[in-house]
Amino acid sequence: MKNYKEVIECVYADVKNVTDTGKVADYIPELAFVDPTNFGISITTIDKQNFGVGDFEKKFSIQSVSKILTLTLAYKFEDAKLWDRVDVEPSGNPFNSLLQLEADFGKPRNPFINAGAIVICDVLLSHLKNPKADFLDFCREISNNTSLNYNVKVAESEKKSGFRNVALCNFIKSFGNIKNDVEEVLDFYFYTCSLEMTCKELSEIFLFLTDDNFITIKGNRILTMSQAKRVNAIMLTCGFYDESGEFAFRVGLPGKSGVGGGIVAIHPDQFCIAVWSPKLNKKGNSFKGMLFLEKFTTKTASSIF
Ligand code: GLU
Repeated sequence: MKNYKEVIECVYADVKNVTDTGKVADYIPELAFVDPTNFGISITTIDKQNFGVGDFEKKFSIQSVSKILTLTLAYKFEDAKLWDRVDVEPSGNPFNSLLQLEADFGKPRNPFINAGAIVICDVLLSHLKNPKADFLDFCREISNNTSLNYNVKVAESEKKSGFRNVALCNFIKSFGNIKNDVEEVLDFYFYTCSLEMTCKELSEIFLFLTDDNFITIKGNRILTMSQAKRVNAIMLTCGFYDESGEFAFRVGLPGKSGVGGGIVAIHPDQFCIAVWSPKLNKKGNSFKGMLFLEKFTTKTASSIF
């Protein structure tokens, strides 16, 4: 941890002063109210040591980072059958694109673009009795953290403005790849995106992807080793929309971003690191988050490559 701690402090100070050319997401009106100067980092190592700097204990909207959690729960239920409904290929397209769905007959390219995550939410609706409450319980169990919750204002704000997601869900339904009611699927999807966490909480909740022996407080295993390996693989190839190649190239870790400005990155067998800075680059990924992680893995030689 000592090495990580020093590097994090040094890179944080360095990146804090870099001119941020990004913009806060405002297509979900409620997200625009965030203070754009927030900047926090938290790392949790496989032996559960934690270190954070800056705004690492402030809650923020994790948005698409939640797609790892919905995928994980759906994968637990369906195992390999899940891949009949959603593919595992990078899309090379923006996160909310409709473009490929027609040619692909309503099968989204991967679970981390909106189309894929909406299908994953549909899968979960078919398994869960009380989807919102059950999903929240699942997240609370993995993180051993009962304070986790949705931000109702953010969810309702997106419900009023999420026209592209409405279009995606209806379009996929026309191919038969949405089994439940469109409104219920979208309501659940918007709530999962509205989950709020701090960097510290994010770096803790994803430890199950770094540690093959991870067991929850209730004694449950989250994923098999093989499943965890595959989730990491999809994060590496698809976690950053049409900038997934760039993230692998510059940072070299499996990861996932969200339009709230959060990024989570995993070093299997070593650590989980979370960064939050709300201003996004043109591809929708946190500008300072990517820069921080690039410098961090370079200085610690902790890329997986
Ligand atoms: N709720 C957001 C949307 O569907 C998530 C996007 C993201 O974080 O990538 O547009």
